Amino acid sequence: MDSPLSKQAVFRFAPSPNGLLHLGHAYSAILNHNLAMAADGRFLLRIEDIDTVRCRPEFEGAIYRDLHWLGLEWERPVRRQSEHFPFYQRALDELIERALAYPTFLSRGEVRERVATFEASGGIWPRDPDGAPCYPTEERRLDPALALNWIAEGRQHAWRLDMDAAIEAAKVKLDGRSLEWSEAGMGPDGETGLVSAQPERWGDVILSRPDSPSSYHLSVTLDDAAQAVTHIVRGQDLFHATSVHRLLQVLLDLPQPLYRHHGLVRGAEGRKLSKSNMDTGIAAYRDKGLLPADLRALFARDCLVLD
Ligand code: GLU
Repeated sequence: MDSPLSKQAVFRFAPSPNGLLHLGHAYSAILNHNLAMAADGRFLLRIEDIDTVRCRPEFEGAIYRDLHWLGLEWERPVRRQSEHFPFYQRALDELIERALAYPTFLSRGEVRERVATFEASGGIWPRDPDGAPCYPTEERRLDPALALNWIAEGRQHAWRLDMDAAIEAAKVKLDGRSLEWSEAGMGPDGETGLVSAQPERWGDVILSRPDSPSSYHLSVTLDDAAQAVTHIVRGQDLFHATSVHRLLQVLLDLPQPLYRHHGLVRGAEGRKLSKSNMDTGIAAYRDKGLLPADLRALFARDCLVLD
């Protein structure tokens, strides 16, 4: 039987230290924290630093500083993804063993070339929900012995999910139930309530690559389960990624959290905030003499375009 403790709501804020936090992050962190407190639940901070090229210690330091300044408290120790690569590798190995993941060798340029050639002859290459061309599927059929040889020779490669095989394997596990999630917020097109997952729209997503031994999709899904996160509250820009996360949850027998995707904080003229845009960074507001209460009031008054 579940202990009462296992029913406690667990929320998390999971930034990547590849730039400075902006107002959108402040909104997400405050929202998660408030919801956790209101539910008498737990609030976790997770540092998603799998990208060993773009993530930097000074940005991690800035995250702690900014969140402290906002008046947020989180549990220690903080989980840092870069300390758990073997954990993600074990899940990847399992997917490889089940023939749901395969090695790929095409460079970005080669992919671009294939897309351009195909489209020049009148075809429409599938694009993922972020608008990027889906990865070609031809290497699914590569001779495994040859692929292993290439890896042994040190050829650059990435592991990708065989989306068709993964969906078939998930169907078996679901045994007639559909792949969906419960959405308490809203997707970009107003999707709410029970939402049907459409992982096929992403094509053969990446699971590990040379500069990052795990991918966002794999590590976020595994960590949310490892940390017993019950409520995933994050920006609408990650709404469609949930389709892939639900698929991985089913394949790897992980629990299903509840989701709430919130609207994105927009800058002037609806501009999307970016981590490289210093003017909307939390630190910039602090340096201008604003107080955390001013930011909270700004969010509460809906001065920015919020949900
Ligand atoms: N690390 C991701 C980011 O900074 C967020 C992950 C998530 O909330 O699922 O965009």
